[in-house]
Amino acid sequence: TEYLALELRELFREAFIVDHHKQHLSASIGLALIPMEHEDPEDLLQQADVAMYSAKELGRDKVQLFLPSMQAAVDRRLEVERDLRRAIGGGELELYYQPQVLACGRIVGAEALVRWNHPTRGLVSPADFISVAEETGLIYQLGDWVLRRACEQLAHLGREGGLHISVNISPKQFREAGFVEQVRSILAQTGAPPEMLTLEITESLVIDDIEQTGQRMRTLKTLGVSFSMDDFGTGHSSLAYLKRLPLDAIKIDRSFVRDIESDPNDAVIVETIIVMSHHLGLEAIAEGVETGGALAFLRSKGCHRFQGYLFGRPEPFDKLLLQLTPPPQAYVSS
Ligand code: C2E
Ligand code: MG
Ligand code: MG
Repeated sequence: TEYLALELRELFREAFIVDHHKQHLSASIGLALIPMEHEDPEDLLQQADVAMYSAKELGRDKVQLFLPSMQAAVDRRLEVERDLRRAIGGGELELYYQPQVLACGRIVGAEALVRWNHPTRGLVSPADFISVAEETGLIYQLGDWVLRRACEQLAHLGREGGLHISVNISPKQFREAGFVEQVRSILAQTGAPPEMLTLEITESLVIDDIEQTGQRMRTLKTLGVSFSMDDFGTGHSSLAYLKRLPLDAIKIDRSFVRDIESDPNDAVIVETIIVMSHHLGLEAIAEGVETGGALAFLRSKGCHRFQGYLFGRPEPFDKLLLQLTPPPQAYVSS
């Protein structure tokens, strides 16, 4: 069987011709073997699925056999999937907001970050369920809920609120055929001002198909929304896309900002990203700013927009509103 899988993978090495263009695809293959005793075909598919995701984690283009040690992962995933399905419709999700500030401390925006109030597990972090949502396709419903909720709250703030709201869009969600229509109708239904809405996308989106991604972004921009590139620098992709996509901002990933004061390499990387984004006419937003020292460094290199625990942790919408009134006072300045 493994031999067959390897053969199959070989076949994918050949380029596919689509519309007269050569397209290269890779295949990650998960194998599950039918055991002696009677098994549910659903279970078998689940096992193959888990093996396939393990193959993907090993790097693309791999073949992985399902191992009994993976069973725990299967069970957990099934449980999360079932719970999450219930959570989306059942009011267990909540949007938290983390402020985005200028050096003077003024809050100019906020990023919506989903939280799951699980009845027994407590507050679950998105790191623990976004990937399951992606793998199971639940991300469409989850993403719809998040965007709708964020737009309702944005409509509440209004244009005069002066607060930009950023929403994370997963690659799968962005690529879905109906995504543009979905954004259009959510904006219309909620009455949210589109020019106050930013969609955060990630580099993995451009690796696969930059043309289609760019086209879709341009269509969405005609609705009035903006785009940020999230987790910038972590995606191992070429920088060429930066001039080919209609981006408005780059978010410098927390992993570079974290050690900015102690690691000269990180300091250079961050400085380079700031300079580059300004040359390209893009705003640079630093993520994960935790210390006054990091803030001082970022300011000295020309970064003007920050997000991080130094200024505020993600909190429920009501708490965000409280921070806006009375007018925020200045934070550390150096
Ligand atoms: P992200 O979009 O890069 O969001 C920033 C994450 O960094 C948030 O984690 C935030 O709480 C955390 N963070 C912010 N400032 C600091 C800091 O100063 N120090 C440290 N140590 N961490 C900081 P969170 O809320 O756990 O979200 C994790 C990731 O889950 C997000 O990363 C985003 O990729 C994803 N995510 C969150 N909400 C959604 C959503 O509604 N849809 C989708 N598709 N993904 C989401
Ligand atoms: Mg984000
Ligand atoms: Mg990020």
